[in-house]
Amino acid sequence: MRTLATHVARVTGLRVTVRREFLLHHAAKKLDVVASAVAATRVTDVTRPLAPSGAPPVPLVLFERRLLETPERRVPGVLYDGILVQVIYRSVLPPEETTLRVAHIAFTSRLPGTFDDADRRYHARACILGHPALVSTSGIVEAPAKPRGFYAAKRGLRIDSADVRYEALKERYAGRFVDYDDPRLTQIAKGYVLQALFYQMTGEPFCEDPDCVLFNAHWQEELIHAQVESGLLCAAHRKVAEALRRRGRATAR
Ligand SMILES: [Zn+2]
Repeated sequence: MRTLATHVARVTGLRVTVRREFLLHHAAKKLDVVASAVAATRVTDVTRPLAPSGAPPVPLVLFERRLLETPERRVPGVLYDGILVQVIYRSVLPPEETTLRVAHIAFTSRLPGTFDDADRRYHARACILGHPALVSTSGIVEAPAKPRGFYAAKRGLRIDSADVRYEALKERYAGRFVDYDDPRLTQIAKGYVLQALFYQMTGEPFCEDPDCVLFNAHWQEELIHAQVESGLLCAAHRKVAEALRRRGRATAR
């Protein structure tokens, strides 16, 4: 987090404060309410937009409650409606911080998704832009697609991620996609944080240049290229960042 904060401050000139996990910071006194709300955002059918369905089952709420207390834990295989999760996060912000002069970037290990009307299904996301912006560590791993051959091989073997052969398959593509606990995650997160900040400050989070850290990567290989191999803003966005630094009055948290 420190590395990220220093990087963001250097690039944008913003004053950056690192806090503990967002919901623990803002909602420690109402974790039961938040747990219930978060449990209700679990996507049960990826082909249908989530509809309100009454109070979620108690075991799920208890599970979410435990997770809120230990936010570093991962929930493998569970997708949450990212827009609804964002609404919950926004609802716990104090009024004085509910302003576009403060940018909030909340890290989560939950996997958020958004429903795409074009193909009528949810897609996992690494980042939900907005106020606050959510950056998901699971999303960085799960959202951009792995190399094409990887999926073909997986289908050919007829295996799922619980199969031991899945590990061997991952080994074969090692380095070409980001995995959990990957040492490159911090470097990659820098790019998503900048996209979130550019969105809030300029309305334009992405760049067409595949060498720019604002490139909206749909493939893991594009992501690794933009964030790790390049790791820089393009010339045009460096100018924008410079202008932001000069303006430098906003605050990021
Ligand atoms: Zn750019």
